[in-house]
Amino acid sequence: MKKNLIWCEVSCRRCQAVAHFSGWYSPERIKKLKQETKSWREDDDYGILCPDCYEHVTRERELGIR
Ligand SMILES: [Zn+2]
Repeated sequence: MKKNLIWCEVSCRRCQAVAHFSGWYSPERIKKLKQETKSWREDDDYGILCPDCYEHVTRERELGIR
């Protein structure tokens, strides 16, 4: 029987960091992935950002670099 496998991955658009719990779909994985990426943010310019990059981008904007 062929299983319907779906690759589930959350990655940062800026530094390409991939969430640790990325992998083949399972309800347990989704739960962990959601928990892990709770502090990740969707940005209008970049897309999905890890917490580090989100902080960096926010600081740059505050300083008026971008
Ligand atoms: Zn990042």
